[in-house]
Amino acid sequence: MRIFVTGAAGFIGSHYVRGLLDGEHADVPDAHVTVLDKVTYAGNLNNLPIGHPRLTFVRGDVCDDELLNEVLPGHDAVVHFAAESHVDRSLMSGAPFVTTNVLGTQTVLEACRRTGVRRIVHVSTDEVYGSIAEGSWTERSLLEPNSPYAASKAASDMLARAYWRSHGLEISITRCSNNYGPYQFVEKVIPLFITNLIDGHDVPLYGDGHQVRDWLHVSDHCRAIHQVLMNGRAGEIYNISGGVELSNRELTGRLLELCGVGWDRVRQVPDRKAHDERYSVDTIKIRDELGFAPQVAFEDGIAQVVAWYRDNRAWWEPLRRGADLAAER
Ligand code: NAD
Repeated sequence: MRIFVTGAAGFIGSHYVRGLLDGEHADVPDAHVTVLDKVTYAGNLNNLPIGHPRLTFVRGDVCDDELLNEVLPGHDAVVHFAAESHVDRSLMSGAPFVTTNVLGTQTVLEACRRTGVRRIVHVSTDEVYGSIAEGSWTERSLLEPNSPYAASKAASDMLARAYWRSHGLEISITRCSNNYGPYQFVEKVIPLFITNLIDGHDVPLYGDGHQVRDWLHVSDHCRAIHQVLMNGRAGEIYNISGGVELSNRELTGRLLELCGVGWDRVRQVPDRKAHDERYSVDTIKIRDELGFAPQVAFEDGIAQVVAWYRDNRAWWEPLRRGADLAAER
């Protein structure tokens, strides 16, 4: 099987591609993978086994339809991860989010239509639903995105649906909760806090940290995406989550404990604008239809992630130097 993966120099896409090449997905033992990635500030070639005989890496933009015309034909499927993905950046400037997430998705879908690549998984997020005080969203819930990031992802979901309905492309959409794992760029809360603590700095907690997020290990997310690719139905949306709800304060406490430091290392900073209170997706559909259940227990997974950042300073230190993390909060 030849799989075309966009945005796989980033956190989740690179995990998926490493898994494909390492034989983690038994139904595609010899998958050939083409990665298309612009290598923005969030992309990192060190996340991929460049030079692997079954990997072709193309540096380029998902908005570049001529390039897509050239490199897409002959693939059996597309898994579309490429996106601008950081909510805080979208609050500073929404334009790159609309360009990559909306126009980029439309360009990829149009190229699939033109070149006859029919099977596509569009990787989206639970943030498209907005914020929910109680209960959980099903795949049929209203979309009420609150950040430019979430709005651009919601728009891309609508385009994916339209290309399924209008052009008969076999598109499935996944909407996952927050991921954690190794190789996550240092601006996101878990790696930011861990690397700050390892380096002896404080960690900036938004407001009183009461907002709730549902955490899933990246390997479970990738297994779910792969199951959707192989067995999911076209035109369908699949929610994915770990079912591990933690307030940001609870998460911070866990990270402080694992790093062996106390609450004196926490600096309260003004809350994010329109900070979503809670995300929660109902995952009965993917469980019942595809038999998906997360395998990594949060306690184990988060301890491994702290250990990974401790053991892989050479991976993240240059990224911290390059990123203006102070400006993040
Ligand atoms: P990431 O920011 O780590 O990686 C994004 C990748 O896309 C980078 O390699 C970047 O170089 C590439 N990219 C950006 N713009 C591009 C363009 N115009 N053309 C080609 N490549 C481009 O993101 P991530 O956390 O790995 O997220 C991947 C996908 O999963 C996104 O679509 C995101 O919305 C979705 N998602 C993420 C989470 C999460 O918790 N991180 C949860 C649910 C869904």
